[in-house]
Amino acid sequence: MPELPEVEHVVRALRSQVLGRRILAAELKLKRIAPGISRAAFDRQLRNSTITAVNRRGKYILFEFDGGKVLTTHLRMTGKFVSLAAGEPAPPYAHVIFHLDDESRLVFCDMRQFGRMRIVADPKKQPKELLALAPEPLSDEFTESYFRETLAASRRSLKQLLLDQTRVLGLGNIYAVEALFLAGVSPLKEANRLSKTRVTKLYQAVRDVLREAIDVGSTLQINLADGNGDYIGTTERFWRVYEREGEPCVNCGTKIKRVVHGGRSTYYCPKCQKR
Ligand SMILES: [Zn+2]
Repeated sequence: MPELPEVEHVVRALRSQVLGRRILAAELKLKRIAPGISRAAFDRQLRNSTITAVNRRGKYILFEFDGGKVLTTHLRMTGKFVSLAAGEPAPPYAHVIFHLDDESRLVFCDMRQFGRMRIVADPKKQPKELLALAPEPLSDEFTESYFRETLAASRRSLKQLLLDQTRVLGLGNIYAVEALFLAGVSPLKEANRLSKTRVTKLYQAVRDVLREAIDVGSTLQINLADGNGDYIGTTERFWRVYEREGEPCVNCGTKIKRVVHGGRSTYYCPKCQKR
């Protein structure tokens, strides 16, 4: 499943491909990808719109159009975009096809069909799926004092809190585990009991792992032409603890432990990451 750094790279790849393009027709082939709108209305809303920006909020991709409409897209498990030149056959699981004015097509493929799109027609309205999201983690709005107050207000474990996108945005299972390791804090520690110094460490670690993953990912060069959806593959070797159960800790050599916590696998070094 793509996490924030991978989605950031999808957005960058989309920008270079579709910015300034006009949609000639929007073909919603699988209705469940855009619930609550008919195929005809989906096409009518987007037809003749020019893509003026492609942005990201959390793991949502936002296509912005002249006239103010926005198309929000969430890739979920297996959603991906593929760009096709004229005459190229559509790949498998092509559920939404945007026919563009340069004769190319932007195709949304999704094997598992969990990906979702929604058109927000009123430019004054913030898309409702974005309202509840915490501040963007690499923006100035995500301050240390915001993070401190958020932690202080929760008795949940740090691991669970870090995964709650309405509190701390952008960390999935991988980067939550990595950030806790970088900060030297146990994933099982109660959020409101973390000392001031360790809050600072964890705050920096959250931003560091995301920045690092985006930088590492820049060598990924997500290729819209071949629909390479293997966003995470190349970053694996950079993970310090994630999926490294039984391997020696890179800091101290102690074996990395795995526990299932809140239904998810959590990896940590029992020596470096104190409660
Ligand atoms: Zn260690």
